Amino acid sequence: METDYAKIGLKVGLEIHQQLNTQTKLFCGCPPELSKEEPEITFLRRLRPTQSELGQVDPAAFFEFQKGIKIRYEANRATSCLVEMDEEPPHPLNMEAVETVLTTALMMNAEPVDEVHVMRKTVIDGSNTSGFQRTCVIAMNGWIKVGDKVVPIQHASLEEDAARKTGEEEKGNVIRYRIDRLGIPLIEVATAPVIYSPAEAQEVALAIGRILRDTGKVMRGLGTIRQDLNVSIPNGALVEIKGVQELELISRVVEYEVQRQLNLVKISEELKKKGVKEESLTEEFIDVTDVFQQTKCKVILKALKNGQIAKAVKLPGFKGLLKRELMPNFRLGTELADRARFWGRVGGIFHTDEMPAYGVTAEEVEALRKAVGAGEEDAVVFVADVTENVVDALKAVVERAKEAISRVPAETRAANADATTRYMRPRPGAARMYPETDIAPSLITRTFVEKIRSNLPEPAEKKLKRLMKEYSLNEKLARQIIESDYGQLFESIAKESGASATTISVFLTESLKALKRDGVQTEKVHGEQIKEIFKLVGSGELAKEAIPNVFSWLSENEEKSVPDTVVALGLKLLTKEELERLIDRVISENKQLVEKLGNKAIGMLMGLVMKEVRGKADPGLVGELLRERLK
Ligand SMILES: [Zn+2]
Repeated sequence: METDYAKIGLKVGLEIHQQLNTQTKLFCGCPPELSKEEPEITFLRRLRPTQSELGQVDPAAFFEFQKGIKIRYEANRATSCLVEMDEEPPHPLNMEAVETVLTTALMMNAEPVDEVHVMRKTVIDGSNTSGFQRTCVIAMNGWIKVGDKVVPIQHASLEEDAARKTGEEEKGNVIRYRIDRLGIPLIEVATAPVIYSPAEAQEVALAIGRILRDTGKVMRGLGTIRQDLNVSIPNGALVEIKGVQELELISRVVEYEVQRQLNLVKISEELKKKGVKEESLTEEFIDVTDVFQQTKCKVILKALKNGQIAKAVKLPGFKGLLKRELMPNFRLGTELADRARFWGRVGGIFHTDEMPAYGVTAEEVEALRKAVGAGEEDAVVFVADVTENVVDALKAVVERAKEAISRVPAETRAANADATTRYMRPRPGAARMYPETDIAPSLITRTFVEKIRSNLPEPAEKKLKRLMKEYSLNEKLARQIIESDYGQLFESIAKESGASATTISVFLTESLKALKRDGVQTEKVHGEQIKEIFKLVGSGELAKEAIPNVFSWLSENEEKSVPDTVVALGLKLLTKEELERLIDRVISENKQLVEKLGNKAIGMLMGLVMKEVRGKADPGLVGELLRERLK
């Protein structure tokens, strides 16, 4: 069944974040690279919410603090310095990054600001050593055209990326973060919430993604682009979904979120119709440890053996609703469990809608129901852990169950790889930004802006048409060149080498990929060397079939020049005179046979000659000379 999103009143706003391919990070001289080595330095910190300079404690910050988490940061000297460790003030803003964001902003018809003011945004999940992320608006009020629609761009900003989570330590509530990613420049592009369907959300995201790529200054590959979506429907809520890693996933994420909210609305209506009221849900938690003394449920057994307890709460009127699917593989029970995990630090919850199961017997369920006084229409949720966690978890369950009656909760969710989402935290309060006093504002002069404006990159579709026309490429090859990182190199080789544009483009796209697959370190051969190879092809000194050979040899012998390589490999093409002499010799060596076979000897002779000159002569030319000689 087709969902009518216009009727539902769906509104989506996008925030696209992409790493910029700059020389250095945003506020220090470290390279914007992720470390592959084991960490050389680690340090432990406990984050506390700071009274922000405007005098308000951020509620989201306070919640994270309550969890009592410690952070172990990991670092390598090659990819981080004292700035990332928050032991040294930030260096001045990286103007190369500012230029890239300005370029993008101008391509999106936005108006640059006169002065760039760096702001601090409270972040207290530990992903930033300082407890805040630095961010600055570079341009505002732009628009792009997607199909026939004009989509307003609210702002284009520059941000520092956060540290990346590398794991959790079971002991002591410790999260590990690698700070190599911290400080990598990110562009943030935000649209107005004027997107009205999942498909449109994806189209707009792809259009923005294309513009970013057209700048030629963004990083590529998984993990370099992250989208946040603001999804709202009038009967539901405004939900912020963070961290969608692939543009192709966006339409499904939106689709599932609408499904989730609509199903929550339906559940709320059913509960109201049944007369279930928020007041009837109480924080009356009954100790049910005794019920499970003889249990075969491994999880509960392990908890009780460790001296932990089991407590249960009754959810009046909820029977059957906890197993109701909200989106694929995600039920109302999953929502309750997510909240319990976040607020109660527990591994999960059990509820009667999924019982008997997991080793819990029908008898135990019956005893459990009796213990909490649950009737026919009620559901029971129970948790086994230490007392403090059990109580916090059940409180969170009751809170979420109350919301199930009254409304779809506005919250921040995180995207999963299968396009579903999970609870992340409550929506942050308003006062999240305050000025960064360690960095002076940077002026954006008119001259600077006009210089960038006069030199904007060519949009991909325009470039495609031009490449096809200028170099007589077919559409497939032209597209491959644009999608590769070799657009500029291709044009410079095609203009200067005299080799055919098709040969050059096939090599830069398909052959290079194949060589890489075969383990050739393609990055060791630089553009100028590739150009030299093609110059030899253009002048007839190297057969095009020999290009991959020369290339792989160069990748392993970096000190060698291209002409040396060609000679060393014995790949230098024979001159016409050398070839003629060779053909004459082969003919005279096989004189009798040639006389006997006449013109039919050509196949045999071709084979003999090619055996001697393979890779050193063009087969077309050999055939031509043979025919001439035979006459
Ligand atoms: Zn650094």
